[in-house]
Amino acid sequence: RRSALVVGGGASGLSCALELAGRGWSVSVLSRDTSEGATRAAGGMLAPQAERLEEGPLLDLCVRARSHFPPWLQRVERLSGVDANLCSRGGFLAPAFEGDAVQRWRPPAAGGPATWLGPEALRALEPAVSEAAVGGWLFEREASVDPRALHDALLTSCGALGVRVLEGVSACSLNLDVEAAAGGAAGGSGGAAAAVITSDGAELRADAVVLACGAWARELLPLASFPIKGQMLRLRPPPGHAQREAGGLQRTLFGDGVYLIPRRDGAVVVGATEEPGAGYDRRATAGGVAQLLDKAVAAAPVLADYTLDEVWAGLRPTTPDRMPLLGRASSALNLHVAAGYHRNGILLSPLCAKLVADGI
Ligand SMILES: Cc1cc2nc3c(=O)[nH]c(=O)nc-3n(C[C@H](O)[C@H](O)[C@H](O)COP(=O)(O)OP(=O)(O)OC[C@H]3O[C@@H](n4cnc5c(N)ncnc54)[C@H](O)[C@@H]3O)c2cc1C
Repeated sequence: RRSALVVGGGASGLSCALELAGRGWSVSVLSRDTSEGATRAAGGMLAPQAERLEEGPLLDLCVRARSHFPPWLQRVERLSGVDANLCSRGGFLAPAFEGDAVQRWRPPAAGGPATWLGPEALRALEPAVSEAAVGGWLFEREASVDPRALHDALLTSCGALGVRVLEGVSACSLNLDVEAAAGGAAGGSGGAAAAVITSDGAELRADAVVLACGAWARELLPLASFPIKGQMLRLRPPPGHAQREAGGLQRTLFGDGVYLIPRRDGAVVVGATEEPGAGYDRRATAGGVAQLLDKAVAAAPVLADYTLDEVWAGLRPTTPDRMPLLGRASSALNLHVAAGYHRNGILLSPLCAKLVADGI
C-alpha cells in the first residue's frame, strides 16, 4: 500500500486523510493540537454568497464546494455515526441597513439564486430581524454545520478507515534531501522527496506528505500564508425560548460585519472579528466581545435577553490574494499543500481534499 503522512489534524488535514484512506492509502496524521486550530473555532457556514465573494475563481470553487458538501457529509456521518448538525432549511438572510455594504451589494449570478426582499417580506420570513433593516437578500442554497461536531465526525470516520491520528505530535521540520523511492508515488526514480522530522525526534518518510497545518504552514515551507484572528461567541436563549421556533432566530442572518447562526438547540453563534494585526494571539478580548454583542443586538434585538455562554477566537489561514494554496510544492516530488482556506475552510476542505488527492 502507498503511504501518506498528513501534517495537521484540522478540517483540511482530516479531509485529506479520509480521502486518501478511501482510495486505499495507508495514512497517518501528525496533529500538534486540535484545540489551537481554526476548525473548532469556526462558524461552520457553507455560504459563499453571504460572504459576498466577488465573481471569479474563488467564488466558482466555493460554489462547487457547496454542492460537493452534502453528499460528502452524508458519507462522513454514516461512517462515524456522528450528526454534524447540517442546517440547510430555508437558506440564509443578509439583512441590509441604510447605506451599508449589504444594501450596496449586487450578488454575482455565478453564486446561485439570490432574491431581494423588501422590509416586510424580510420580517415575515424572520421576525427577529431589527425593524431598522431596509430589506435583505435571501440565499436559498446556503447552509451551516456545527464545526466541532463535524471535526468529531471526521476524526471518528478517519479511525473507521484505519487512519492513525498522532495527537500531540508536531512536525518540527522537513528534510528535503531524501532520495525519492524509485517507482513510488513520489514521482519515479531520482529527485528530492520530503521526510518529516517530528517532535519525538523521528524521521518519517512516506510516498506523499501533505501539509495541512492551517495558519502555521509557513513554519515548514516559505509559503505566503499568515493568520487573521477572528473572535466568536455563543448566546443562550432565556428559559422558554429553548426552541428556535419559539421566538428565536429561524435562519442565519449574515449582515455587514456580523453574522448570527442559530443552532438546533436554540443557541446562537455570533461572529466574527477580523484582526489582521493580532498575529498568533488567540485570546478573546473585552473589546472584541463588546463589538460582537453590539452588532448582534442591533441586527436582532431579541438577543439582548440571551445569556453569554462562551467566547473564543481562532486564526484564519490566509494568503495575500485570499486564494487557497493547493497542490504539489516545487521543493520536493512527494510534497503537497492543502492550506490557506481563509474564511471558507469548513466549506472548502472536502472538495479541496479531493483535488489534492487527484493531484497526488
Ligand atoms: C472565527 C472564525 C470563523 C470561521 N467561520 C467559518 C465558516 O463559517 N465557514 C467556513 O467555511 N470557514 C470558517 N472559518 C475558516 C475555517 O475555520 C478555516 O479556514 C479552516 O478551519 C482551516 O482548516 P485547516 O485544517 O486548514 O486549519 P486548522 O483548523 O487551523 O488546523 C491546522 C492544524 O494543524 C496543526 N499544526 C500546525 N502546525 C503543525 C505542525 N508543525 N505539526 C503538526 N500539526 C501542526 C495545528 O495544531 C492545527 O490543529 C472560520 C475561521 C475563524 C477563525
